[in-house]
Amino acid sequence: MNRREFIWTLPGLGASVWLTGCSTDPVTGKKALVMMGKEQEIAIDKQHSPHQFSEDYGIAQDAGLNRYVADVGKRLGNVSHRPDMPYSFQTVNANYVNAYAFPGGTIAATRGIMLELESEDSLAALMGHEVGHVNARHFAERQAKSSLLDIVVATASIASTDSNPQYGALAQLIGSVGGGVLLSHYSRENEREADALGMEYMTRAGLNPTGMTDLMQMLNSQSKAKPSALELMFSTHPMSSERVANTNQALEKTYADAAKRPLQRERYMDNTSRLRALKAAIGEQQKGEAMLNQKKFDAAEDHLRKALAMAPEDYPGLVLMGKTQMAMNRPQEAQPYLLKAQTIYPTEAQASQLAGVTHLQLKQPDKALAAFQTYDRLLPGNPNTIFLKGYSLEQMQNKQAAAQEYFNYLKMTRQGNQANHAVSRLQGWGMVK
Ligand SMILES: [Zn+2]
Repeated sequence: MNRREFIWTLPGLGASVWLTGCSTDPVTGKKALVMMGKEQEIAIDKQHSPHQFSEDYGIAQDAGLNRYVADVGKRLGNVSHRPDMPYSFQTVNANYVNAYAFPGGTIAATRGIMLELESEDSLAALMGHEVGHVNARHFAERQAKSSLLDIVVATASIASTDSNPQYGALAQLIGSVGGGVLLSHYSRENEREADALGMEYMTRAGLNPTGMTDLMQMLNSQSKAKPSALELMFSTHPMSSERVANTNQALEKTYADAAKRPLQRERYMDNTSRLRALKAAIGEQQKGEAMLNQKKFDAAEDHLRKALAMAPEDYPGLVLMGKTQMAMNRPQEAQPYLLKAQTIYPTEAQASQLAGVTHLQLKQPDKALAAFQTYDRLLPGNPNTIFLKGYSLEQMQNKQAAAQEYFNYLKMTRQGNQANHAVSRLQGWGMVK
């Protein structure tokens, strides 16, 4: 079974689900061949968005900030073409500059982009653009156009060249830094439509559409200053001079009056003050991540040490330092950062998965198993965790329970060294031929 076949067998993603026939485009009112209903959009959203959030170090632990972002977002959802979608809006802890929408209306902005915005109007432009993607049903449209399903489950097993399954798993986990395989990649046409809808919604909601041009200018200048932090943003939402020109034109022709409204700068600054207090630490983390992606581990460690000196309780800072130590094959050094991260944000799963791997490396399989069980409870549905639970049980000499996990893993994927390892153990134990 290859990865695409694997996706077809996921619950709720069977072939029949996609063939719901014609439906009405909520924006144009025209009949369109959209092979996915609202229920499927919501189901896919619910299945994938928690994994993306965890990859992005969880929802920011700043209730005031989240209330504010949700409030601005809801105002846009209410005046959109699909006010009945179950929208949610949040800031996630990732440091890269990005925002994204899942097809059921789950929308997030990273703290990296929140730090660069300067007004509520620009925030509304960002959220409005994402609400635009949900309203124009771009995800469903792209699925309908593509003969092969091109969404990928980030958590599906990735083939690894490492023959030691333990380190194979580790390589996968480290490799997920800056992944984003769960995110929709839009066309230029999609982007044009989402920009136009975003401006329409933000204007209806009483904001100043100049926020959209401010947002684009910020993205263009940041892409020069910090190219690595914007890579994913521009690969998922392609930027072009045409987008800027269209937005300027709409501002002059359609929204000249609304463009005279005052920009809400102070309200934005007040509501993001706690986040902005972390700006210097986040800047060091961004540099650390860029070094980590280039495998310059010593330099990454230096930046992350500076970040932690400024913000010692910062969950992404601790997890990134843990990843960096793991990348340098220092599980002993990595572990305290990951255990501290777990206690600081006990409902976020990523630190548990990584801590579990360090327990395995340090020959503490019972602690590893507990960590993977914690992860699985917080974020079910990751095949890697099933494998890692089996591997921990195998190290604990609990063949029966290990075999059960390996069987479960092989139901999800047959590819890669982890699958090979599971099959060879099951064969060795005489449980399969
Ligand atoms: Zn977009």
